[in-house]
Amino acid sequence: MVALALLLAAGIAMQLVSPQIIRWFIDTAKTESDTSKLTMAALLFIGVSLLTQAVRVVAAYIGENVGWVATNRLRGVVASHCLKLDLSFHKKHTSGAIIERVDGDINALANFFSSFVILLLSNLVLMAGILVLLFRENPLIGLAMTAFVVFAMATIQRIRRYAAPLWGRMRQISADFYGFLGEHLEGTEDIRANGATGFVMRRFHALLRDWLPVRLRAFAGFAAMWITTIAVFALGNSVAFAVCVYLWHRGEITIGAVYMVFYYTEQLSQPIEKIRQQLEDLQKADASIGRIRELLSTESKIQDGREEALLPDGPLSVEFDGVRFGYEEDSLTLSDLHFRLEPGRVLGLLGRTGSGKSTTARLLLRFYDPQEGSVRLSGVDIRSCRLHELRRRVGFVTQNIEIFQGSVRDNLTFYDPEIADGRIVSVLEELGLGDWLRALPDGLDTRLESGGGGLSAGEAQLLAFARVFLSDPGLVVLDEASSRLDPATEQKLELAISSLLRNRTCVIIAHRLATIGRADDILILEDGRILEHGERRKLLADPDSRFSRIMEAGMEEVLA
Ligand code: ADP
Repeated sequence: MVALALLLAAGIAMQLVSPQIIRWFIDTAKTESDTSKLTMAALLFIGVSLLTQAVRVVAAYIGENVGWVATNRLRGVVASHCLKLDLSFHKKHTSGAIIERVDGDINALANFFSSFVILLLSNLVLMAGILVLLFRENPLIGLAMTAFVVFAMATIQRIRRYAAPLWGRMRQISADFYGFLGEHLEGTEDIRANGATGFVMRRFHALLRDWLPVRLRAFAGFAAMWITTIAVFALGNSVAFAVCVYLWHRGEITIGAVYMVFYYTEQLSQPIEKIRQQLEDLQKADASIGRIRELLSTESKIQDGREEALLPDGPLSVEFDGVRFGYEEDSLTLSDLHFRLEPGRVLGLLGRTGSGKSTTARLLLRFYDPQEGSVRLSGVDIRSCRLHELRRRVGFVTQNIEIFQGSVRDNLTFYDPEIADGRIVSVLEELGLGDWLRALPDGLDTRLESGGGGLSAGEAQLLAFARVFLSDPGLVVLDEASSRLDPATEQKLELAISSLLRNRTCVIIAHRLATIGRADDILILEDGRILEHGERRKLLADPDSRFSRIMEAGMEEVLA
């Protein structure tokens, strides 16, 4: 910042000196026949001009650097803050809105951070410097040009007030348009399958129709502003000439001075324009700063626990003790959940859609905290241990498996360099993905597409298992994919689940009878309450139990 301020000061000084050199050149040329002075003046002018350009380049470089270092740090702070916020925040805010904060708003601040104060000050100093030099030349010129500056600022500010909202409206429409495109391109399969292409194109044209007039108006506004600015500066030049002609006729100034006044008047346009731009940036930055502060002051509802509470190695026991939970204050999704799962056992979680199975799983990972009661793993209340520790010891396989753009290795280890390649390969072998791995062109370095393009649903699920294996948790929560898989993949999955469950406690939201068959205990939920809970064998032996009816009639019949 100091270097930037010094460079800008040097730039201003040189800008103020140049016209003086020209005046001296012209006046010397008119009065003297000696060319050596003229040559010197010419060389001096060229030297100062070149130096001014060099200073400008270096100042721009430093300014950008300061701005980006500062905004990158802020980007980092805001992004990691967003990642720490709980899921209820992420449900309320779309990813688009968060990107707008982390990228759009912070971009708007880049200029503000880099140089706002310095640029504004330097432009004010340049303007004041020019006016002082004009006053020194002749008070009448100084007075006329000061009046012009005030008039120019007021006029440009006025016309801007008319043009600026048009741009805001245009940005809004273009955001709507790209949002629409993004959403519908993502849903191409569904749109085509449901024959909705016509509907989408209709909306597409409707958006374009809305866009055009706004765009035309915005450009008309822009043109009006541009033309007004040119007209105002032309007026400034005319005033300067008029005053100079008057003074020259009276013999009060030389022709060199006339040229110098003209040159200074030209130079005045720069600070007037820049100051207007800076004030505009200040308004934008003000709005952005407000939005970013609001985001940073949002606190996660999930507070990290204390360091000391460590979860033991090996399989963990699970205990729900009087858990009540609702996503909103006044709703109740789980009421009075009370059960215990011994270490190393497998719990099959059954229930209709919406009965609260996924919610129970989410509580185990502390994506949400219960409003009442507590969840304990091996006797430790999960609110008291560090989130990092909890999520290291509890593995979660969801129905929607996210594959990120990156190598197979990075997708499995999440960039943990501690995990050796040998281990990854042996885990993939164990899961029956050995052939798949060998068929990849670059082995573990093969790049996967984001969204898992190129992977079958079964492969994606097996990769998610591999992730869990590599972190070796004591409890696995498995929300089994409900989509049907081909028999060969089913068989692979069966084998993989067997390895996954070995020497671990497991909670499975099962959709296939084969998986339910592995459960030691069964818990059936209905409307967020426990309908039935017990050992699978005992429940199966009891012909009146809901579970034995499910096994007899099939899940779809009883739980539908
Ligand atoms: P299941 O997994 O048994 O199908 P869930 O646990 O997903 O059931 O859902 C239980 C209830 O909670 C449902 O009524 C569902 O609408 C509601 N619900 C689930 N997720 C959310 C959420 N993120 N925000 C608000 N309500 C939710």
